[in-house]
Amino acid sequence: MHHFEYRNGVFHCEDVPLPKIAEEIGTPFYVYSHATLLRHFTVFDKAFEKIPHLVCFAVKANSNLAVLRIFAKAGGGADIVSGGELYRAQRAGIPANKIVYAGVGKTRPEIRAALEAGILMFNVESSQELLTIDAVAAEMGVKAPVALRVNPDVDPKTHPYISTGLRNNKFGIAWQTALEEYRNAARMPNIEVVGVHKHIGSQITLVSPFMDALERTLELVTQLKSEGINIRYVDIGGGLGITYKDEAPPHPDDLAKNIGPMLEQTGCTIVFEPGRVIVGNAGALVARTLYTKSGAEKTFFIVDAAMNDLARPSLYGSYQNIVPVEEEAARRHKVSADVVGPICESGDFLAKDRVLPELRPGDLVAVMSAGAYGFTMSSNYNSRPRAPEVLVSGVRYDVIRPRETFEHLVAGETIPAYLE
Ligand SMILES: *Cc1c(COP(=O)(O)O)cnc(C)c1O
Repeated sequence: MHHFEYRNGVFHCEDVPLPKIAEEIGTPFYVYSHATLLRHFTVFDKAFEKIPHLVCFAVKANSNLAVLRIFAKAGGGADIVSGGELYRAQRAGIPANKIVYAGVGKTRPEIRAALEAGILMFNVESSQELLTIDAVAAEMGVKAPVALRVNPDVDPKTHPYISTGLRNNKFGIAWQTALEEYRNAARMPNIEVVGVHKHIGSQITLVSPFMDALERTLELVTQLKSEGINIRYVDIGGGLGITYKDEAPPHPDDLAKNIGPMLEQTGCTIVFEPGRVIVGNAGALVARTLYTKSGAEKTFFIVDAAMNDLARPSLYGSYQNIVPVEEEAARRHKVSADVVGPICESGDFLAKDRVLPELRPGDLVAVMSAGAYGFTMSSNYNSRPRAPEVLVSGVRYDVIRPRETFEHLVAGETIPAYLE
């Protein structure tokens, strides 16, 4: 459920007509619905209310400070994957003791910063990383709370680029060696083993991969407890999918119904790391049609947003629904077309062979489901200033990140004196 719809013939985000924002700040821009963000967070949180738990929003899905603040105010924590995300989470007011830290390549400075902040736990991805965390903690005279990220070797049945829990993925510690690694960890002087972590992938639309992965993980938890290793947190990662086109992912309540009893049995606090399911359908990328072009074989709608603004279609061939902002345009004759951006790459497209009403120069379109892995994956490729981000709440809207300028593009670049 989200708060984007036609009203009086014009596409709105909550009570704000999108053309109003377009006129005031130009295009392209990202727009997020406060009501949708909060609703999705609350629905997820409530689904597991019977179990002691913590919802740590996956910051990489959408890391704008205002978005993070909404979840902080709702009692949420953060799942981070870098020192930069630690900085953002703290700037947004997320308490350090609600932050969990995953990622296969944590550096010493990043580990130190997380220890200084006092995060809830590191989700450790390799034995060498564990040794490094132990060493950094020793230098600082502290104990580092850790969970090991175990790789349960379960197929999440999603796109290969966003599968993470198969044995040929770079993530986590192999299922077969996990117990041994835990025994090592428990002996390290500056490590305190507090949890078990798994995350098997993203955009998962079935319950069964979650159940299979959880079953394996909980066997390990039982074994660890029997060896006197005091597991207090079971972190089951994120990955719940959303509807981009016609997928029918489980509702958080369905997931809770299926895995809730298993989770409850552990007697542990359960950590969740949802990203996409909270923010994906709470955002859209709004662009304006610049030109239309009918080639020998194809029709192209050229818009002012491109792969640097929204990488998912180019990167994963993913589907994003495209909606004309004026309902009048939506009723026009339909054609099959590619929606492309101005970037000099054939891979620069937002939609391929899509049946769409015939767009005309000047028409606004909303690229839907762009709230997750949208702005956060954007770049300045082709020296395009990054798009602004707007947060709508009821009738008001706030620019929560302005459009970059040409000055931003060259900020920090210098020409060495010998070239002057
Ligand atoms: C990306 C990621 C998530 C969030 O995944 P979603 O599919 O957006 O829910 C959670 N945990 C970890 C460790 C991740 O890398």
